Amino acid sequence: MNIILLGPPGAGKGTQAQRLVEHYGMRQLSTGDMLRAAVKAGTPVGLQAKAVMERGELVSDEIVSALIGEELDAMGSGVGAIFDGYPRTEAQSASLDDILAARGRKLDHVIELVVDEDALVERITGRFTCAQCGKGYHDKFEQPRQVGVRDKCGSTEFKRRPDDNEATVRTRMAEYRAKTAPILPIYEARGIVARVDGMAEMDHVTAAIESAIGQKVTH
Ligand code: ADP
Ligand code: ADP
Repeated sequence: MNIILLGPPGAGKGTQAQRLVEHYGMRQLSTGDMLRAAVKAGTPVGLQAKAVMERGELVSDEIVSALIGEELDAMGSGVGAIFDGYPRTEAQSASLDDILAARGRKLDHVIELVVDEDALVERITGRFTCAQCGKGYHDKFEQPRQVGVRDKCGSTEFKRRPDDNEATVRTRMAEYRAKTAPILPIYEARGIVARVDGMAEMDHVTAAIESAIGQKVTH
């Protein structure tokens, strides 16, 4: 199964992708994570992407589509893919069709996480992750159960993203509205979009996504 999680920054794409990975053994393909890894490693892609990401603008379509193709090839054919943060433009959406077709895959569902923009700044500025395993948390909405210690892997180190500040978030939201929201009609025309209330509690969002996926599977 191949799924896109679509929604503005802070909508809960990463949170829900991690849950689907745990429940179904699917693979999360986050272009944001791939780009951050490239920046950290200082690769040519990372050097090109760093300043663009810090401004909250979009990295070039060619770069992110190449990353997605490489990641799909690396994971093999039997595993389902969750696209988190990709595609973000019409050109990326067209590339994804080609990338999937070339690998004998097809898109099954696009989950649109519908959120209230006012809540996003609070979500983004309170976001942090485990430095060791990448699990996502929030200062107010999802603290590790034992304060200061990551639940499962036991790590005590956490990190925050340099672009998770209010000014950058506003640019990222504007980019989403201008370039990413317009790709929804492409998928609506194919009848594969499920709208999910991203303002609900995390567990309810997960249940709604699983029901959207499940309904389609049993047809
Ligand atoms: P995205 O990947 O779409 O940018 P995240 O999954 O990283 O968003 O979520 C952003 C922040 O909001 C995280 O700190 C996460 O813990 C929190 N969060 C995610 N979903 C919810 C929710 N349904 N209710 C409250 N907070 C949430
Ligand atoms: P969020 O979880 O807040 O939606 P991401 O981690 O997906 O953010 O992306 C962080 C940044 O990485 C974006 O602001 C953008 O600069 C870059 N980026 C990630 N994915 C893409 C993409 N598909 N196309 C262009 N730029 C991307």
